[in-house]
Amino acid sequence: MSDFSVTEALTSILAQMERSAIEAVPLHDSLGRVLAEDVSANRNHPPYDVSAMDGYAVTFANIELATPDSPVSLNVVDDIRAGQIPQISIGQGEAARIMTGAPTPAGIDTVIRVEDTALSGDVVSILAAPKQGANIRPMGENLKTGHVVLTKGTLITPGVLAILAMVKQKQVPVFARPSVAILSTGDELEAIDDPIDENKIPNANSHALYAQCKALGIEATLLGIAKDETEDLRAKLAEGLNYDVLLASGGVSVGHHDFVRPILDELGITFHFWRIAMRPGHPLAFGTTESGTAVFGLPGNPVASMVCFEQFVGPALRSAMGHDKLFLRTVQARLQHDVKGAGSRTLFIRVTLESDDEGYFVSLTGAQGSGVLMSMALAEGLMIVPADSGTLKAGHMVTVQLLQGMDCQSEADL
Ligand code: AMP
Ligand code: MG
Repeated sequence: MSDFSVTEALTSILAQMERSAIEAVPLHDSLGRVLAEDVSANRNHPPYDVSAMDGYAVTFANIELATPDSPVSLNVVDDIRAGQIPQISIGQGEAARIMTGAPTPAGIDTVIRVEDTALSGDVVSILAAPKQGANIRPMGENLKTGHVVLTKGTLITPGVLAILAMVKQKQVPVFARPSVAILSTGDELEAIDDPIDENKIPNANSHALYAQCKALGIEATLLGIAKDETEDLRAKLAEGLNYDVLLASGGVSVGHHDFVRPILDELGITFHFWRIAMRPGHPLAFGTTESGTAVFGLPGNPVASMVCFEQFVGPALRSAMGHDKLFLRTVQARLQHDVKGAGSRTLFIRVTLESDDEGYFVSLTGAQGSGVLMSMALAEGLMIVPADSGTLKAGHMVTVQLLQGMDCQSEADL
């Protein structure tokens, strides 16, 4: 089988991912989850025309000529507070004092903000005329009864959660999160709880993958480290097949002790591909079981493992969770230096992003070897150098994927 392109691999993976079941969770627990059904408004909001200001409800025709030098005087005949239904209609030469959010009374069409008035006893002087209809929020401006206000597939952010609260959705239908197991493989690996052995390599991948899942709202299960020997690998990989998604890192290359693929084969996995024309991340096996477990054999190199997660595992998990947006957001940014492509492979270069008058520009996060984890730790984005693009010149615009959580900046920019 020849190497899959990044796009072919993604298409193949997404075609296999099954949507998780729907479950109902309490409103507060729905934050970060994905809505599994359309939600319609069960009421109008506001429920009637309301004042947008503290001020005076008036008839525009009465006050349209008002200025500070020739104010218009009106008798204040009512005082309407938020939550109160006005009992009287406002007539010629009259006004009602009104609070923000209070329903407007019959007979008026405009609200004058209190700053443009002067009160003396029961008479208010209107000092300025706004436009007719000013400062009134029409009924249903925010939510209209029966209208779909949120669609299935929406990620529940604090703003979305506020809408759910307004339509009194105490229980929210969301897609279940897939169960994910993580296994690292390699005789050289040292677990985080092991004492330091200078001859060993600390296990980074299990924790990086755990964190990447967590950033998607998934609490993954760590299955520890398997030795590069068939018994241990078989047992731990088999355990991983009890989950919806198994992420195994390391042991998928063509080395003499790379047993992951043959054992997965033995365990009945159907492989859809096992190499991708990309760097980092060339060896990546993807397969499925009959019972629907998706298995990713990720490369052992920590950077490669993390980049492959962002390209393939993240979209697959979002798809299972019913997201309508599967992929990392991208921006266009300018290269400051020439960058050499990787021939027929798509290159993912770890970068930071800054902006000037001409938009974003990228800086590389130091050495880009796939074992140089610091390049990933410092990265705000992954810059894409497409396959067969030769050398990209300084000034060239490139696509940069923004890494999860990179949504704050050091200056306020207001
Ligand atoms: P492999 O894909 O098993 O050939 O591993 C490639 C490289 O990644 C080797 O240098 C491994 O030591 C390293 N590696 C594999 N798994 C891990 C891990 N869990 N944490 C850190 N480094 C790893
Ligand atoms: Mg290995």
